[in-house]
Amino acid sequence: MTPLRLHSTRPLTGRLAPSPTGALHLGHARTFLLTWWHLRQRGASVHLRHEDLDAGRARPEHQQAIEDDLRWLGVDWDGPPVVQSRGLDRLQAALAALHARGLAYWCTCSRAELRQLQSAPQLGELELRYPGTCRGRWSTLEEAEREAGREAGLRFRVPSGEIRFVDQVLGPQRFDVQATVGDFLISRRDKTPAYQLAVVLDDADAGITEVHRGADLLASTARQLLLQRALGLPTPRYHHFPLVLDAEGRRLAKRVDSLSLATLRAGGVPAERVVAWVARSAGLSVPRAVSARELIHEFTLERVPTQPVRWLGTLD
Ligand code: GLU
Repeated sequence: MTPLRLHSTRPLTGRLAPSPTGALHLGHARTFLLTWWHLRQRGASVHLRHEDLDAGRARPEHQQAIEDDLRWLGVDWDGPPVVQSRGLDRLQAALAALHARGLAYWCTCSRAELRQLQSAPQLGELELRYPGTCRGRWSTLEEAEREAGREAGLRFRVPSGEIRFVDQVLGPQRFDVQATVGDFLISRRDKTPAYQLAVVLDDADAGITEVHRGADLLASTARQLLLQRALGLPTPRYHHFPLVLDAEGRRLAKRVDSLSLATLRAGGVPAERVVAWVARSAGLSVPRAVSARELIHEFTLERVPTQPVRWLGTLD
C-alpha cells in the first residue's frame, strides 16, 4: 500500500463544494461561513467547485444562484469557480488505471438484486452493503455487459480492516468500510464517475489541504482515504460540521424553501442577521447583525458544538 503523504508543506488551501441541485438554505450558510472563517483566519486560499456530476439533479442555473447567495453572505473565493463535469477525462483515466491494476471491477448487479440479498428490509436510508457478487466475475466491460444484458458500474475493491482518522471537529474516527459498505461504486452504470472518486481527484488537483463539509459526509471520508491511498494522493485534514436540524429533528433539505437564502433575502432579511445566527450557533457572542468579514478573527473551531444545531424558527 502506498504510504500516506503528508500535507504539512503544501500551502493551506480549502474549498467550498456545493452541489448545484437546489437553492442554498441556512444549513449551507452555516457550513460555508464556518469553513470560510476557519480558512481566512489562517490566510488559506478558498477554492469554489460546483459538484454537478449528478446529471439527473444538477442544474446550471443553480450555480449562479449559489454564487449570488455566497456573495450576499460575504463569502468570497480565489480564482474562477471550477465546474466538476468539465474535467471528466482525468477521472476516466483514474478509473481505467484502478481497473488495470486490479483494484476495481465491473459490476452488473441491479439495485433490485442487491435489495433482495439484504437480510434487513427496513434499512430505509441506510446504505446497503455490497456483498461482492461481481468480484472476479467479469474480465472486461464488454464481457460483463454482453453476458448480463445490462450496463455495468465499476466498484472499488475495498480491503478489509479499519480505517482511522482524526476529524478536526468531531475527533478520532474509525470505520470498517468493507464490513459496512463493501466494495463501493466509483463509476456509475452510465459511466459517470461517482462522487467518492471525483471528490478525491478534484481535491488533489486543486491542492486542497483542508476539507470542511457537513457531518453527513463523515462516513464517506473513510472511503475517500482508501481511494487516496490507492491513487498515491495526499490526504487533506478533515473538518465535519454537525448539521442544522428542524424542530422535529429532520435535516433542513433543499426543498425547505422558506429557509432558503434567496427567500430570506427576498423577504428583506439582511445577510448580517443570517451571519449573526450562524455565529451564535458556533458559540460566538455577537450583536443582532454582523458582517462575515468582522468575524474572521473571532471564530474559533474549538467552540463549534459537536452536536447538531436546532433551527427554532427564528434568526434571533
Ligand atoms: N457537494 C457535496 C454537497 O453539497 C459536498 C461534497 C464535499 O464537500 O466533499 O453535499
